[in-house]
Amino acid sequence: MSAFLPDVIKIIVKTVRCLLLWQRTLFCTGLLLTTSPLQADNNELRYCIDPDWMPYEAIVDGVHVGISADYLQLIAEKSGFKFKLVPSRSWLHSLQLLQNGSCMLLPMLNQTAERLQFLRFSEVYFRSPNVLVSQHQQPFLQSLENIGQRVLAVPAGYRLMEHLLNYYPDSNTLLVDSESAGLQAVMNGNADLFVGSLYSINHYIQQHGLYQLKVAGWVGVEDQLRIGVAIAHQAILPQLNQAIAAITEAEHLAIYRNHTRMPVNEITNYKPLWQLAATAMAIIVLLIIWNYRSRYFYQRLQEKNQQLEQTRAELEAAVKELKFLSDHDPLTHLYNRNYFDRTLRVAQQRASHGQHIFSLIVVDIDFFKQINDNHGHSAGDAILRELADILRQQVREQDIATRWGGEEFVIFCPQTSAAEAQALCSRIAAAIAGYTFSHHISLSCSFGVAQQQADEELSHCFERADRALYQAKQAGRNRTCLG
Ligand code: GH3
Ligand code: MG
Ligand code: MG
Repeated sequence: MSAFLPDVIKIIVKTVRCLLLWQRTLFCTGLLLTTSPLQADNNELRYCIDPDWMPYEAIVDGVHVGISADYLQLIAEKSGFKFKLVPSRSWLHSLQLLQNGSCMLLPMLNQTAERLQFLRFSEVYFRSPNVLVSQHQQPFLQSLENIGQRVLAVPAGYRLMEHLLNYYPDSNTLLVDSESAGLQAVMNGNADLFVGSLYSINHYIQQHGLYQLKVAGWVGVEDQLRIGVAIAHQAILPQLNQAIAAITEAEHLAIYRNHTRMPVNEITNYKPLWQLAATAMAIIVLLIIWNYRSRYFYQRLQEKNQQLEQTRAELEAAVKELKFLSDHDPLTHLYNRNYFDRTLRVAQQRASHGQHIFSLIVVDIDFFKQINDNHGHSAGDAILRELADILRQQVREQDIATRWGGEEFVIFCPQTSAAEAQALCSRIAAAIAGYTFSHHISLSCSFGVAQQQADEELSHCFERADRALYQAKQAGRNRTCLG
């Protein structure tokens, strides 16, 4: 019994609600039927609209706007009728005004069995799907079949209410005054779902930023909107239908576009931007790495180049030194015997052709052994270097002064007679005598001079000079003898 009682109460409540709805509709119908028909004065047709049903129709600052306003304007142009708006507070109020004869027609509504009791309808001139709307957390319900016991907000007096009563009498409906009130009910949780026209719902959601709402399913019935004329004035219907038929596709499309344009939020697709930024970043990083590595390698290259340059300079210096040493004596830096032999070979060839004459001077330091003994070997080396300097200074440009070995020197004097060579020996001896050597060592040299005779071998001429030197030594040193 206790389980049975709530069901009984539920049935009673639903029955009362249905009766109320029926009563409301029948009340409207009754009034209409009892109202005396009003004739259109001067072709002026008074009409009522839903004041809050955008984009279909609404009253804004007393002016009829929306899809039905555009259509009425077209129909007025095509039919010659003049339409005059009778302002109303709500759709139900509009129905009342129709019932009491204040208005003669409703320009945009669905045809239903109930409405046929007090209205006659024109041809359909606008179609629109109906949808279920819920908050995001609701599942996608697909259709009215699946709403279960969810509270469904329905605008009172709308065709959908009649549809629900007919086909879904068990549904848990919540009557609201308008579509906007229904959407607000879903927003604030008073209802789980709202059922209404897709275009008007979209309009309201966009206008009020209710982006937490979503379409939760399709309602099988679509709105097939027509002009509803009070039965008393049904005579005007043929003219209205004619005007509707005369509306071109382009005109339909223009109105449709004008009012159902869904404002698309400019959603910038940042993906390509991110990809571009990532690519740019990667390129920059690669460039930085490349630049860093380039700089590193450039630096290494510079270092290697420097090392190479240094090695090259060292090598060049070594080659230069080697070349120098191949021709020069390392201690005195005078020419060496090797250079002397090479040069004299050429000189002798020239002399043998009678082109040139030359003289040879052999120089030997007197008592050099004693210097070494008395002052040390390094003092002897210093004396040898100092004497070499004197020889370099005293010989002429074309002469070649050579360290022959030990403390012996040979001077090759091209195009020089014996007398000129002797004069050179005197100059050298004088320079030695006037020079202050290291450790204040006194020094003298003996000279042997020989002038090449015609067709004389170099070696023979050298022997003569060497013999002359020996004579100078024998004669007491510090002198010049001619060989
Ligand atoms: P004389 O007057 O007869 O020529 O007597 P001398 O002592 O000069 O001749 P001697 O041939 O007896 O000695 C030559 C010395 O020269 C012997 C050697 O030690 C020295 N001598 C040879 N070459 C060098 C050298 O490069 N450096 C030094 N410090 N001494 C050298
Ligand atoms: Mg000597
Ligand atoms: Mg000697």
